[in-house]
Amino acid sequence: MQEQQFFEERLTKSVGQFDITGKTLLMPDMSPFGSRLLTSCFRAYGVPAQVMPTYDGLELGKEYTSGKECFPCQVTLGDVLYYLRQEKERLGSEFSPEDYVYFMPEADGPCRFGMYNKMHRLVLDKFPEFEDVNITYLSSTDTYSSSMIMPEEKSKLFRRLAYVATIISDVLDRVVWRVRPYEKVPGETDAFMEDALQEMRDKIESIGESRDFNALYTLLEDIVKRAKKMMDPDKPRRPLIGIIGEIYLRTHPQSNQHLIKEIETYGGEVVDASLGEWFNFVAYSNLRDTRRKWTQSWKKGDIQGMFSASRKWLDYQIEIKYQLWRQDQTYARARKHLDIHEDHRIASLENRLDNDRLFNFDIGTEAAISIGGALEYVHENYDGVVNVFPFTCMPSTICSAILKPILLEKKVPYLDASYDGSIQPNRELAIRTFMYQAQQRQSRRNQAKKG
Ligand code: SF4
Repeated sequence: MQEQQFFEERLTKSVGQFDITGKTLLMPDMSPFGSRLLTSCFRAYGVPAQVMPTYDGLELGKEYTSGKECFPCQVTLGDVLYYLRQEKERLGSEFSPEDYVYFMPEADGPCRFGMYNKMHRLVLDKFPEFEDVNITYLSSTDTYSSSMIMPEEKSKLFRRLAYVATIISDVLDRVVWRVRPYEKVPGETDAFMEDALQEMRDKIESIGESRDFNALYTLLEDIVKRAKKMMDPDKPRRPLIGIIGEIYLRTHPQSNQHLIKEIETYGGEVVDASLGEWFNFVAYSNLRDTRRKWTQSWKKGDIQGMFSASRKWLDYQIEIKYQLWRQDQTYARARKHLDIHEDHRIASLENRLDNDRLFNFDIGTEAAISIGGALEYVHENYDGVVNVFPFTCMPSTICSAILKPILLEKKVPYLDASYDGSIQPNRELAIRTFMYQAQQRQSRRNQAKKG
């Protein structure tokens, strides 16, 4: 009983949403642009956040897990253990665990991601020197509101800046995927974008709490214009490959063994599902939930319940409208100069599912947007689809079961790419075969166009 109480306390008091002002926020690396720009948003609001080096601690992550956890859990655990150990070694007796807060967001639903932060707590507690490193999170249940981790008056504006920064990171990714396969000088795009990322980080930190989004858009336009100059206009268009799947695996290059670059090496141009798509999906799902709650309250004659659901519905509507407006604005500024691919609308992904009666948003999970996203790629004439996920991931396995037969029937090349940190000897062969099929599909399409 005492033991149970002890754990309950650890999992509620040392994993929670509390004011992080002045603490060093430790951000796990995920999407290279996304994690770094989000860190800069925290810094703009006075939180000295930093992205932890990634993947160096994988052995540690594996050592302190049982093997039943999914791969992102092992990678992120390894990152924080490795970082804290390095910090302790660097600072010696000056190391003060209370100065750090480890940031591990969560989501509801069947995905164990919602439990990572608790599990990481239990592992950190095995090291007495890390017991006082608290863990904080933002949660999908309230569309990642930051109102509990920073002063109320700052939190709404912070969330808006963080959303815009996320969309900017999506655009920067799309610029890389559009330019790099056609670059005149090999390696030039990556080198340029590294500097461009730093410029954007500096800009976000310098605008601080001023909400001068226009300054960010102006810089974004400038980056896009400069990136475009690196393209060789004489290089023929490559087969277009759409990536769907689990968000961490598809955006963390080390975990997916640099899949995008590998597809490019074998002749493809890639578009990965965006981070913005996930945030829009979370807001959209919460809106659907409030609609369901309103109906339930109406059936029970619960006026108070109907009133509270209506208020929440209105809040989510405003938030979604705001998000889509900002997303369109950001993409438009970039697309003035370069034809990067637009992002999918969540409502049209839902329509794709309903039209084909394959899956339903009521079932939820990332499978909803992955299946819808893959069908949208097919509708947009992509030449192949890759589903990227942690080995044994349940929603992604559902995607695979649903998509494989459909895409086979539509003659669209499809590849499952699961990862657990090990090297698969036949992976390269699978990608090369897939790319050969994608090239054939592209030539068939081109011939059909010519008539
Ligand atoms: S395997 Fe997939 S569904 Fe399961 S916890 Fe990991 S990401 Fe979530």
